[in-house]
Amino acid sequence: MPDSPTPATTVEAEEARAAAAVAASGAQAHAALAGTPHTGGAFVGVPAQLAERVRAIVGASNCITEKQELRTYECDGLTSFRVTPGMVVLPISTDEVVRVVKLVHAAGLPIVPRGSGTGLSGGALPVPGCVLLGLSRMKRILEIDLENGWMRVEPGVINLDVSKKLSPAGYYYAPDPSSQSVCSIGGNVAENSGGAHCLKYGFTVNHVLGAKVVLPDGAVVELGGAVLDTPGYDLTGILVGSEGTLGIVTEVTLRVLRKPEATRTFFATFPSTDEAGNAVSKIIAAGIVPAAIEMMDRLAIKAIKAATGVDWPDVGAALLMDVDGPVAEVEHTARAAVKLAEEAGALQVRLPKDEQERAVMWKGRKSAFAAVGRISPNYVVQDGVIPRSEISKVLREIEIMTKDAGLRCANVFHAGDGNLHPLVLYNARIPGQEARAEKLAGDILKLCVKAGGSITGEHGVGAEKAPYMNDMFTDADLATMSMLRCAFDPEGRMNPGKVFPTPRLCGDKPGVYHPHDTELTGQAGRG
Ligand SMILES: Cc1cc2nc3c(=O)[nH]c(=O)nc-3n(C[C@H](O)[C@H](O)[C@H](O)COP(=O)(O)OP(=O)(O)OC[C@H]3O[C@@H](n4cnc5c(N)ncnc54)[C@H](O)[C@@H]3O)c2cc1C
Repeated sequence: MPDSPTPATTVEAEEARAAAAVAASGAQAHAALAGTPHTGGAFVGVPAQLAERVRAIVGASNCITEKQELRTYECDGLTSFRVTPGMVVLPISTDEVVRVVKLVHAAGLPIVPRGSGTGLSGGALPVPGCVLLGLSRMKRILEIDLENGWMRVEPGVINLDVSKKLSPAGYYYAPDPSSQSVCSIGGNVAENSGGAHCLKYGFTVNHVLGAKVVLPDGAVVELGGAVLDTPGYDLTGILVGSEGTLGIVTEVTLRVLRKPEATRTFFATFPSTDEAGNAVSKIIAAGIVPAAIEMMDRLAIKAIKAATGVDWPDVGAALLMDVDGPVAEVEHTARAAVKLAEEAGALQVRLPKDEQERAVMWKGRKSAFAAVGRISPNYVVQDGVIPRSEISKVLREIEIMTKDAGLRCANVFHAGDGNLHPLVLYNARIPGQEARAEKLAGDILKLCVKAGGSITGEHGVGAEKAPYMNDMFTDADLATMSMLRCAFDPEGRMNPGKVFPTPRLCGDKPGVYHPHDTELTGQAGRG
């Protein structure tokens, strides 16, 4: 007598049948996608049969198909790009992700992963008719091994919660984006996020040891792992920073560090960004690697003061710097750094008298983006990289370009990495200002590339910067990246329309190129 099927087999068989059933209606929906704009465009729902099958897996409350409710997910932190997804699914486990992905794969629909939605480059921007997978319910800390310096977490865990969990034992997780109280580890992995303290400790890529990933066809792969130096290609390195285009991360093994014995902080003011930029170059050229060295210009200082009430003077520029390590080393290094800042023209150097005052200084810096909202109704957050030695020169050029555009630009950034964050201020109600702001933001990126830098430091390429990839890479470079993507996602269904400037090889969206709404209105241009 044949064995009766195990429950698992029954479920799998049933899901395979269901997948075949939705495939036909999915093919129809996918056909409907051809010819729809990559962003914007009419709402495209998903086949009712698919939604029904997905509800059976994740529960009705975790599967959203109502158009009004879907609008919550129509953009990330880049709110000027908006597309309503076809369906939003909020799984709780790898198993649920796998089962949903298999159904969506059979239906031939695109998938867009999303963490907390704080991305600033449209990385989690839906495409019409897509299934958006929100990973925020997967927020368990699965395992901690302090002896070997790692922990395993689900992707929806909030960045700051990792360090909070480790803190009582004297450990922490180093990458600290300014959004760390809200952004997820999955999003950090996809964007290779950085933060103020990445100058000394490295970006997310330096702190991810391994990951469990669900591929676009539902297969599960384990990349890297807690053991250092896994043989073969460094697929973990490729995954980090791949912006959701290779698969869905459902577990991450993170490197954890012991908290430094001591930290010394100082806040130095300067007449202008010229002297502040020179101070940064001098400090690092002297062999000092600060844990963080952040610069704010006059307008950024004004915004931060208005929003947080810090008692900073009205000056042309300020640096906020942390030096950390063993007590003896830190005292010596901090003194040397202060001296170099003074030699570069510092007007005043303040040392916080206690931990509370230090926290206020850092709160000022970390709330800078939001603070700019106090001095301007709208702004574009830009993210480019330049060689450290070019800071003063590039900031001066940005000032000239900003004046020519009749706008204002605040600069607050990771100076040690040369990672600029120009915030281009505008008022959307004044006709033409938004278009000028978008153009200026784009021109600043081109300036960064010309200065020997890059179009993004930490916010990712996403949908926003894809048009600028041609400014940095040759066709051969981009074709190589595309081939790599194809190895994971031959049909180009994972987070289409991100990273690559136009459809390439088996990439995002074969067929006629559809311009973005901002291009149609002349607000932004490609290449
Ligand atoms: C005020 C503010 C300050 C910021 N400061 C910084 C900063 O200092 N440094 C910095 O680097 N960034 C910063 N950011 C940008 C943003 O917070 C980071 O990019 C962050 O990593 C995004 O995480 P998230 O969970 O919000 O991801 P989302 O925005 O939801 O998604 C980001 C990308 O990750 C993909 N993704 C998400 N989860 C997964 C998953 N599980 N598997 C596969 N792909 C996935 C998405 O498809 C998308 O491409 C800031 C943003 C804001 C609003």
